[in-house]
Amino acid sequence: MSPRPLIVLFATGGTISSLTSQDAAQGYAPALAGEDLLSRIPGHADIARVEVTDFSRVVSQDLTLDMVIGLCRQVNRTLSRPDVAGVVITHGTGTLEDTCFLADLFVRGDKPVVGTGAMFNASWPEWDGRRNILDALAAAASPESRGKGVLVCMNGEVHAARDVVKMHASSPAAFVSPGTGPLGCVDDGRVIYYRAPTRRHTFPSEAIEPEVELIKVAQGSSDRLFRAALHLGVRGVVIEGLGGRGTIPGWFFPAIREALTQGVPVVLCTRSPVGRVAFTVSASMVELGEMGVIPGGDLPAHKARLLLMAALAHTRKVEAIRSIFATVAP
Ligand code: ASP
Repeated sequence: MSPRPLIVLFATGGTISSLTSQDAAQGYAPALAGEDLLSRIPGHADIARVEVTDFSRVVSQDLTLDMVIGLCRQVNRTLSRPDVAGVVITHGTGTLEDTCFLADLFVRGDKPVVGTGAMFNASWPEWDGRRNILDALAAAASPESRGKGVLVCMNGEVHAARDVVKMHASSPAAFVSPGTGPLGCVDDGRVIYYRAPTRRHTFPSEAIEPEVELIKVAQGSSDRLFRAALHLGVRGVVIEGLGGRGTIPGWFFPAIREALTQGVPVVLCTRSPVGRVAFTVSASMVELGEMGVIPGGDLPAHKARLLLMAALAHTRKVEAIRSIFATVAP
């Protein structure tokens, strides 16, 4: 019998590791270390040998980008160990897709990395952390997960980090890949894939340019937040435009031209959860394309921001950044 694979579990906190305080009115907070999680899931030993790294014990909104970069570095170091088959990251669901997408840009090699979380905390009988951790371990231990980039395993589904978003704030079926669907599933412990991701870009080092802002445009929005960001010296801006493929009001165009003239790349995304930005349809979109705005494709704006941050840390050439976006989100 071949030995069970060794999976390293990085525990970062989140609802999956949380307990309700004595005074239930005070709510719940991260309390469990990685070993505490495993002790609640006896079945884990049938899937893999699990080594735990307690990275942090925080709600995911309190994870800074510096912490996430540090996590990606530790994951890369761990995966370079020949005895390690894969990694599982337990994480708050609030920014699970963000950390996993950044890790997808930075984690090198073919070994599986699987993020997971829970919608119900560990004090509750409905705690979904048990199933999600077991499924994530199964996905990380499966040779079929190799080469698929960073994955997110929730509620029996396996998603690509690039595609997945938390679509529902509280449902156990909160995570979906809106335009593409999941890559596969974990069914009774069996990991099954139906398709593989094709749009990955991996950076040679874990670094980001922090001076990038995301600005959401609503109907009738003024350009003042965009101008304020420019004035404050941002190195890049992502605009989340409206539903018409990311359209933005014409009165934004002069400020965008100024940004581009100053060499500040501007990426445009759409607020529609499905579909892509294209500079080919309406006259105003054609004009934005001619100005040199970079289309964010089908990436949600919060992921486009992370991609722009990573790209800017590796190149200042707008054309190189444009081609990275064309690879990840054509
Ligand atoms: N507040 C939590 C977090 O993101 C939500 C969760 O884990 O579901 O850490």
